[in-house]
Amino acid sequence: MKILYAAAEAAPILKKGGLGDVAGSLPPALARIGCDVRLVLPWHPEIDTEAYPIEEKAGYGIGRLGDAGIPVYFVARDEFDKAYGDGKHPEMAKEEELYEKFSLGIFEFLKRSDWKPDIFHGNDWHISRALAILEITTGRELYNWGFEEKSNLATVFTIHNLGYFWTSLRQAVLTADIINTVSPSYAKEILTPEYCTQLCPELNQRRSDLYGVLNGIDYGTWNPEIDDKIAFQYRIENRVQGKLENKRRLQEEAGFTASDAMLVGFVGRLDPRQKGVELIAQAIDKFSECGCQLVILGSGDPEIENKFREAGEKHPGLVSANIKYDEAFAHRIYAGADALLIPSKYEPCGLIQMIAMKYGTLPIAHAVGGLKDTIGHGETGYLYDEYSLDAMVGGIMNAQYDFLNNRDNWNRMMENAMWADFSWDRSAEEYVKLYEKALGKSRK
Ligand code: ADP
Repeated sequence: MKILYAAAEAAPILKKGGLGDVAGSLPPALARIGCDVRLVLPWHPEIDTEAYPIEEKAGYGIGRLGDAGIPVYFVARDEFDKAYGDGKHPEMAKEEELYEKFSLGIFEFLKRSDWKPDIFHGNDWHISRALAILEITTGRELYNWGFEEKSNLATVFTIHNLGYFWTSLRQAVLTADIINTVSPSYAKEILTPEYCTQLCPELNQRRSDLYGVLNGIDYGTWNPEIDDKIAFQYRIENRVQGKLENKRRLQEEAGFTASDAMLVGFVGRLDPRQKGVELIAQAIDKFSECGCQLVILGSGDPEIENKFREAGEKHPGLVSANIKYDEAFAHRIYAGADALLIPSKYEPCGLIQMIAMKYGTLPIAHAVGGLKDTIGHGETGYLYDEYSLDAMVGGIMNAQYDFLNNRDNWNRMMENAMWADFSWDRSAEEYVKLYEKALGKSRK
């Protein structure tokens, strides 16, 4: 089965968030089970071409991903240069236009390349225009582009986040043969007005073609046994010592005393519409009352950034606000924190809780979307039911109680969390089933 996997980013070549992690690790997992999968990405000026060389072909670039050397095609170079060259950043309003060009670039590639896929797998709103064009492309046209006669170019569209760019998303939702999202719970939630006010009718219209497949994480990158970005590598057997060593380093880096207070981390985009960061800002004084230490790593909304900076200045021994994107620092937080706070209003899947668990760091999370599907309350972390300040503080207090008074239980939960397996292999099999369904449905 030949699959062209289209995304706006793919780690480690280009990463801005969880989409990058997924697009960098699902295709290798598909390749491991025998798929001929290749990626198409924007030819983005921020790509480090020393580390990830790109060879120029007629109108597009070719690079490689991962140990298996999966081919990666880069398109729309001029447009991305114009938008991002010399450290520029396009306004949000321009992004939709820019990614239309990306979609058109994918089309040019499909016409020119000798390799013709059976499946086009698009991710998020960025590729919706490509899906819309494919919808109106006839079998005869595909044949003229060099596809085999009567070939089906079936389409699968994965929704990673319904929070942005509804016009584009609407196109993609209406046109793909099969749609999926990244956790079973989110697949149900988005059919209700509470979680999807804008696209609820369209998603309900397509509900018989809508699936939920849980994301995995790449244990080649996220694994405390081999992680060279952390101070002290550790495994399940020496987790207590390993975490303590990393905690001490993190406390030092944050300017905290080497105390035995519970150290809570937060890593993520500071997006008040999704990530619950305004609740964290409101809870800062509570943190200081209960004596927890808090290390924040993230960037985004300027108002939230300022609130966190101010909190760091007001409580220097308890709150460390690191307003930036820093991959290595994220690793040090996963390894050094006791718990990771995830108060998201909605969470399609969420990777940080899975990463945290692998490092024996217990998530404290709002029971929603993928968080609910991956965290076992009292087993691998702490869940609370309501999106509110009180419920979040209650979750933190529960965890802190166990951390301070019930350390045997805490250590048992750490062990459970580290055993939890969110590798891609199972999900990759599920994607193959979706591809088969899409081929069966394809209307060409
Ligand atoms: P989302 O995709 O909604 O941003 P996820 O939990 O799915 O959230 O994935 C977030 C990914 O981005 C994780 O790999 C996390 O470590 C990383 N990340 C987010 N913010 C930062 C940051 N400020 N510095 C480093 N890594 C970050």
